[in-house]
Amino acid sequence: MKENGRKQGAVSPCAACKLLRRRCAPDCVFAPYFPADEPQKFANVHRVFGASNVNKMLQELPFHQRGDAVSSMVYEANARIRDPVYGCVGAISSLQQQIDVLQTQLAVAQAEELPMHQRGDAVSSMVYEANARVRDPVYGCVGAISSLQQQIDVLQAQLALAQAEVVHMRMRQYSDKTRVDHHQGTSSPENSPSSKIVSSQAKSLFMDMVVDQPNMEESLWSC
Ligand SMILES: [Zn+2]
Repeated sequence: MKENGRKQGAVSPCAACKLLRRRCAPDCVFAPYFPADEPQKFANVHRVFGASNVNKMLQELPFHQRGDAVSSMVYEANARIRDPVYGCVGAISSLQQQIDVLQTQLAVAQAEELPMHQRGDAVSSMVYEANARVRDPVYGCVGAISSLQQQIDVLQAQLALAQAEVVHMRMRQYSDKTRVDHHQGTSSPENSPSSKIVSSQAKSLFMDMVVDQPNMEESLWSC
C-alpha cells in the first residue's frame, strides 16, 4: 500500500525500503547505495548484518565513506552466505596461505647460492622478513627491531636505576661501618667486610656513574 503511495511520485522506493515494506523518504539513508534494480545486494546485507545495524553504521559515517562501507558490507555478506562457517575470513586465510607458499618458494630460490647447511636458516629468516614486510609495508622487520630496541632502552634504564639504588644502599652501609670501625680503631676500610660485599658489577657501574655524573660521588658519600 505504501509502495503504491510512493509510486505516485517520480522515484520508486529503493531496494531496502521495498524489502522492508516501508516508505522511502527523500532522505532515505539506503537509497543512494541500494537502487531498486539490485534487490539482492540489500537482501544479503540485511540477512547478515540486519537492516537496523546497517542503517546505524551508515549514519555514523561521513557521507564520503558510506559508499565504500556499503561495498565492503556487501562483499562480506556475500562471503558469509557463500561460506557460513568462515565468511570473509576464509578468503583472507586462503590468500595468506598462498602468500606463505610463494614466500617460501622465493626464499628457497634465493637461498640456492648458499651452502647446503645454511639454506634452512636462510629460508626461515627470509620468510620471517617477508611476513614482517606484509604486516608492516613501511618498516617491515625494521619496525620490529626498532620496537625491541626501545624495549631494551627502557629495561636498561630501569636496570641502571635499580643498580644505582643497590650501590647507594651499600655505600651507606659501608660508610656506617667505617664510622663504627674508626671509633673502635679496628680494621681499615679496604679490608672491611662491607666493602667486599659491593659486587664488581656494581663497582664498575659506580665508576661509570662517577665519570658520567661528577655530582654522583658527592651524593653517594654524603649520607
Ligand atoms: Zn529507501
